[in-house]
Amino acid sequence: MSASKKQVSKVLISPEHIQKRVAELGASLSDDYRGKDVLLICVLKGAVIFLSDLMRHLDLSVEIDFMAVSSYGASTESSGVVRILKDLEYSIEGRHCLIVEDIIDTGLTLKYLEENLRSRQPASLKIVTLLDKPKRRKVKIEPDYCGFTIPDEFVVGYGLDYNEKFRELPGISVLSDR
Ligand code: 5GP
Repeated sequence: MSASKKQVSKVLISPEHIQKRVAELGASLSDDYRGKDVLLICVLKGAVIFLSDLMRHLDLSVEIDFMAVSSYGASTESSGVVRILKDLEYSIEGRHCLIVEDIIDTGLTLKYLEENLRSRQPASLKIVTLLDKPKRRKVKIEPDYCGFTIPDEFVVGYGLDYNEKFRELPGISVLSDR
C-alpha cells in the first residue's frame, strides 16, 4: 500500500486533550524527579513534538539527547529488527535517564533500547510514552508513565508518521485505506 492510498480517517485524540495530558505528565514527572538532574532521551523522529511540549511542563533541571533506531519502513508492521541509526552524544553512566517515546506497539524497539541503555549503567532509567497499544505487545515491557492507552489502530499526527507524512497534524488521527 503506497502512502497516497492512505488517508486520515478520524481524530482519535484532539490537540486540546493532548496538551492537557502532557501538562499532567509534566506535573507528575516534576514531583517524582524533584531535586534531580534528568536526561531526557528522545527517540527520533516520532517523539520530538512530545519531547518539546513535555519538557516545557517540567519544573526540573533537564538536558536532552537523541537516539534514532530503525522501526517501520514503508509498512505499518514491525519487522522486529532493531538497529541503532544514531546513538547518544554523551555517556549516561550515573545519570537519571528518562526515555521519551511516541508509542509502544509490539514493544520490540523499546525492549531493545531499554536493555541497551541499562547496560551503560545509568543511575535510573524510566520510560514515558505518549501512546500505548498494549494489545499488540510481543515482549514484556511497560512504560512508567503513559499519556494514552489506545486501541489497535495505526495512528499518525503529533510527530507520528506514515511514510514520513502526517507528522505535522496537531492531534492524533487514525490512518486508514481510502
Ligand atoms: P514497536 O517496536 O513497539 O512495535 O514499535 C515502536 C515504533 O513503531 C514506534 O516508535 C513508532 O515509530 C512505530 N509505530 C508503532 N505503532 C505505530 C502507529 O500506530 N503509528 C505510527 N505512526 N508509528 C507506529
